[in-house]
Amino acid sequence: MADGAYDLIFGILLPLVVVTLGVLLLWALPVWLGLRWAKRKGYSPLWMLFGLHPIGAWIAAAIMQYLPPKSRCPACERFIRNDFVVCPHCGRRTEEACEVTEFFD
Ligand SMILES: [Zn+2]
Repeated sequence: MADGAYDLIFGILLPLVVVTLGVLLLWALPVWLGLRWAKRKGYSPLWMLFGLHPIGAWIAAAIMQYLPPKSRCPACERFIRNDFVVCPHCGRRTEEACEVTEFFD
């Protein structure tokens, strides 16, 4: 092999490929993790659009990991906000109404 081709492959192309793969991994990994956590906890995967920038991806993924999971409706199993008393999807009560009987005793 000619010296020029050797220099081109091991001096330029190989480091370029290694650095590119490393950057993509450091960029894609938090986006992938953030999407998994968002799906599992019931948050919109659109939050990971912050991952268009690699630093935004790490920040969004860290926030996704620390957010508490949303609660699920016992009837239709869809995610609802933790403070909802009635499911907005199916109308089922998610908490019992307050007991007021002793008020009238
Ligand atoms: Zn429901």
